[in-house]
Amino acid sequence: MADLVAAGPGTTGSADLTVLPGVVDHHVHLGLVDRDLFAGSPVVEVHDLGWVPEQIAAWASAPPTGVRVRYAGRFHTAPGGYPTGRSWAPVEAVRPIADAEDARAAAHVAAAQGASRIKIVLHAGMPLLGDAELDALVYAAHEAGLPAVVHAEGPGQVARAVAAGADMLAHAPWTERVPDAVLAAGARMTWISTLAIHGPAERAVAIDNVRRFLAAGGRVVHGTDLGNGPAPAGVVADEIRALGEAGLAGEELLAAVLAPEDGSGPRLAAPGPRPRDAEELVKWLETSVRVEAEAP
Ligand SMILES: [Zn+2]
Repeated sequence: MADLVAAGPGTTGSADLTVLPGVVDHHVHLGLVDRDLFAGSPVVEVHDLGWVPEQIAAWASAPPTGVRVRYAGRFHTAPGGYPTGRSWAPVEAVRPIADAEDARAAAHVAAAQGASRIKIVLHAGMPLLGDAELDALVYAAHEAGLPAVVHAEGPGQVARAVAAGADMLAHAPWTERVPDAVLAAGARMTWISTLAIHGPAERAVAIDNVRRFLAAGGRVVHGTDLGNGPAPAGVVADEIRALGEAGLAGEELLAAVLAPEDGSGPRLAAPGPRPRDAEELVKWLETSVRVEAEAP
C-alpha cells in the first residue's frame, strides 16, 4: 500500500484510476495474528470466527485503523469436541454443548455478546454434536436473526450442516468430495473459501467442490482463516489466486473478495482498468490506496 491519498468525488470517473470497495475477509482469528498490520491495508472488514467473547468485543470496539471487526465469539461444539485442547484455542473460546436446551441458551448468550454469526463445529475426528444439539443451535441462531456458520470436517459432516439448515460453511469442504445431491440441497448456502490453508491434495478436493458448488448456484465468499498458518494480517494473495483456480473471475470474483455487507467503509483506488481475473486483482490490490468515502 502506498500512502493514503485524498481523492475527490470526481476521481471515480478518471480514465486511468479504478475505485472499488475494500477487501472483506470472512474468516479470521484476530487472537492469533498481529492485528495492527491490518491498519491501512486493503482489508477493510474482517469476521472473526472463534475467540474469547470479551476479548474480541474489545478489539471490535477499538479496531485497527480503518478496519471493521465483526465476530462470532465462542466455538459451539460437543463436550471434548474440536477445538477443545488445541494449543491455539483458549478454554474460554470453546463452549461445550450439553443438550438441545443448552444449545439454545448458548446461542442466545452469543447473540447478547454481540455476535454477528453463530459458530458451530462438526469435526468427525473428535466428539461430535448430535443432530438434536446441531438443530437447536441453528434454530436459535435464526431466532436471534444470525447466520449459523458450520466448520464441517470429515465424512458426512457437510450433509449434516445442510440438513440442519445452516447458512454458511466456515471452510469450503476439503476432506471429501461433496456428493452432487448434497451440493444441490445446500445450494442456498454461502461457503467461505479458505482454500490457501491446505496442502496440495486437500486444496484440489476443496477447489473441485467449489467449482461444482458454483455450478449448482452456490455463493462463495473470500476468507483466509488468518491465524491458521504463517500469513501476516493483510491481503493473502494465494487465497485470491485459489479463488481464480476455482473458476471465479470478473464481477463474480470482485463480489466474492470485495464489498462489505452494507456497502460502507473505505474504498480503494489504483491505476489501471477494473481487474478481470485473480492475477489482475492481486496486482491491483498491491498498488491500491485507500480513498475516503464521499461525505453523504
Ligand atoms: Zn478458523
